[in-house]
Amino acid sequence: MEVKVFHLPLLLTRPMRKMRKPAASSPQPKNFLVIRSFLLLLLSCIAAKLSLCFSNIPSSLLTLSLDGHLNFDEVQHVAKDFGNQYQLLPSAVLHPKTVMDIAITIKHIWQMGPHSELTVAARGHGHSLQGQAQAYRGVVVNMKCLQSPIMQVHGGKFPYVDVSGGELWINILRESMKYGLAPKSWTDYLHLTVGGTLSNAGISGQAFRHGPQISNVHQLEVITGKGEVVKCSANQNEDLFHSVLGGLGQFGIITQARISLEPAPDKVKWIRMLYSDFNTFTRDQEHLISSENTFDYIEGFVIINRTGLLNNWRSSFSPQDPLQASQFESDGRTLFCLEVAKYFNLGQTDTIIEEVERLLSPLNYIPSTLFLSEVSYINFLDRVHVSEVKLRSKGLWEVPHPWLNLLIPRSKIHRFAEEVFGNILTDTSNGPILIYPVNKSKWDNRTSVVIPEEDIFYLVAFLSSAVPSSTGTDGLDHILYQNKRILNFCESAHLGVKKYLPHYTRQEDWKAHFGPRWEALVRRKSAYDPLRILAPGQRIFQKAVPFS
Ligand code: FAD
Repeated sequence: MEVKVFHLPLLLTRPMRKMRKPAASSPQPKNFLVIRSFLLLLLSCIAAKLSLCFSNIPSSLLTLSLDGHLNFDEVQHVAKDFGNQYQLLPSAVLHPKTVMDIAITIKHIWQMGPHSELTVAARGHGHSLQGQAQAYRGVVVNMKCLQSPIMQVHGGKFPYVDVSGGELWINILRESMKYGLAPKSWTDYLHLTVGGTLSNAGISGQAFRHGPQISNVHQLEVITGKGEVVKCSANQNEDLFHSVLGGLGQFGIITQARISLEPAPDKVKWIRMLYSDFNTFTRDQEHLISSENTFDYIEGFVIINRTGLLNNWRSSFSPQDPLQASQFESDGRTLFCLEVAKYFNLGQTDTIIEEVERLLSPLNYIPSTLFLSEVSYINFLDRVHVSEVKLRSKGLWEVPHPWLNLLIPRSKIHRFAEEVFGNILTDTSNGPILIYPVNKSKWDNRTSVVIPEEDIFYLVAFLSSAVPSSTGTDGLDHILYQNKRILNFCESAHLGVKKYLPHYTRQEDWKAHFGPRWEALVRRKSAYDPLRILAPGQRIFQKAVPFS
């Protein structure tokens, strides 16, 4: 509706511009001229009034000369995300063909000054949880349309790939594997964009060794909140480079990234084993992430009050000892599953079994619960997509996802587990709970991401799905209530927990989140996006409201 109203003055002015001058010889009735002038005056008054009423609506955007296009009508699809809880309707969606399309649009909005309410949100694949890639009455940039640069893999001693900020990680994997290469650090799910995960961190089971995805980027091209296109790296415009990494989209739109690659293995030994004792479980996880010679991927998850567990795994995993495994009863106990993977090439099939046995030998899992699987590297990395396809076919993918991701210092993980897995949660039927440690030494403290202070910290991810309109324990309200209880406990017990993929609605909460780094964040924001145009959905800064 807003868009249609705003088109009105333009529709009225265009025919007027085209109107031919009357021939000098033809007599003009005086009262016709008076009526015409009156009508023109009236129409321009209406137009001016509408402009004032809807000053947030970007009429001047229509004048921009772009290779791609702005769409003012089909905007609903970008007013939702994976979280399925927030819907903020923008005024326009930019479908850029070139980097300059984005730069021109942002520069234009920058030049409109602080009195325009217009903001800009880059949207990767829309997998945010709470509207982070949305822009109420602003412009959403559909980053997946940006097809430049064409993905280019470079080999040599230090291989890398140049990609567009809107590229999906699954496409980067497919392309780099043609050259026998692959990125080093991943997320569990690959249908996410480079710009989206680099704005957060990008954490998965390889992060203990390689650090998060933001630790594996050589160079970026960024468009700042002033519409400037800037190349940056650890050696060139380094402050912008580090600001943008983990920067929640606050300092610039990533249009290009140079990602570090390594040789891609052919296959993966994928292994799961159970523990009933949390101390033993975390001791083994920490042993593995601290060892030089270890698995290539280390994660884990929690199982509370589930039965028939081992049967569920049989489809893809085989027990090492089928007889003993068949006798194992989970009995609704709280169990902790260690999940590891070892990569190998086809020429190593003889030695890999011995290698895996050697790595498993110091671990103290329940012996009957060792399960193994062997898959191709691409199938291992793209494993969550298999679940996505299944859930979509049952209509269970596009439901509310009240996820909660926490980074917990190692010294507090036992206190956390005792209360959360022992008291607050009574089962894990709403979705998986991941838990695994990472090494802080692999994170660069010059980036914007906020992490706990200790050398080892845990990612604990409550990946719940809510049943739409349920008022029971599988409904949104109940899951949000449980999340709140977990957060309240973390706060009251002073665990030093930091939220990953953070979401706050009040600036004082953001200040607490950034802690001593708040000042640096504000300085960076005022340097690269002084009008606070970018990523309004994060709700850290508000356009036209002074910094505090
Ligand atoms: P969006 O959600 O579209 O955007 C995220 C934020 O980044 C927004 O603020 C947006 O404005 C900004 N942004 C987007 N593109 C750019 C750009 N080019 N330049 C600057 N800012 C930009 N994360 C992990 O770390 N590890 C995981 O294992 C993991 N698994 C996941 C599994 C699933 C099924 C899902 C849905 C998400 C998972 N995530 C994981 C979270 C993921 O990292 C975030 O959802 C992230 O937002 C990426 O999604 P996206 O590419 O769709 O970005």
